[in-house]
Amino acid sequence: MNRYFKSFVAAALVCSTLAGCGSSSGGSTAEKTASSSTAAASGKHFVIATDTVFKPFEYTDADGNFVGIDVDLLAAIAKDQGFTYDLNSLGWDSAIAACQAGQADGMIAGASITDERKQNGWIFSDGYYTATQCVAVAADSDVKSLDDLQGANVAVKTGTAGADYANSLKDKYNFNITTYEDSPTMYQAVTGGQADCCFEDTPIMSYTIKQGEQDLKIVDGSENEGNDYGMAVFDSSEQELLDLFNAGLKDIKASGEYDKIIAKYLG
Ligand code: GLN
Repeated sequence: MNRYFKSFVAAALVCSTLAGCGSSSGGSTAEKTASSSTAAASGKHFVIATDTVFKPFEYTDADGNFVGIDVDLLAAIAKDQGFTYDLNSLGWDSAIAACQAGQADGMIAGASITDERKQNGWIFSDGYYTATQCVAVAADSDVKSLDDLQGANVAVKTGTAGADYANSLKDKYNFNITTYEDSPTMYQAVTGGQADCCFEDTPIMSYTIKQGEQDLKIVDGSENEGNDYGMAVFDSSEQELLDLFNAGLKDIKASGEYDKIIAKYLG
């Protein structure tokens, strides 16, 4: 049993015992039940991996429910297309590993659609949300622009578009990069003073700051060009999941449900 499989099993066990993953409570349960009954017709069932904390795309709310834009979009699309799924909140890196090891069919975790990833075997759905990456510093930091990051200690989340962006600037600004497993730990490195800044997706960073959860601010002019988020699979045999996702996404955009979900979290 390899490392990834162990962590996947561990996370799956957590999911099956805690409210919020496969068997969520509150609003998600209703959606899940509804999608399950329609799905009997198609009989398709998928295991889908996601991140742990990537607010507001996936996170556990104050009542212990696993919620977010990705969670709601998937529920709405599954209902529309008549498939069922287990959603396993594994973390960014472990979600990728679970898909690559064939232990999950696909992932939805605010995954940025990039050419580099496509060349490395990722297969994406249509885009469902556009996001740039940015730099965030402590609220009382003197850093005003990227130029102030000469020699800085930079925090990134392992394997993310933010990490790629930081790496692309590393030589120009001569900074040191430290990698963290998840977004909250990366933010804490900055608020705790171990890092001068972190690289994060802009909608996630602005939401987290707006919610008053982290004493951070976004550095003006620090954004890259950005990309769309897509559902990802890592084997062409999983194309059906992407086809269903794309068809459902089209439907929920046409029905207005997509806009409602976005407004619920970002409105
Ligand atoms: N959008 C970023 C990426 O695709 C970060 C995703 C995440 O941390 N869940 O790399």
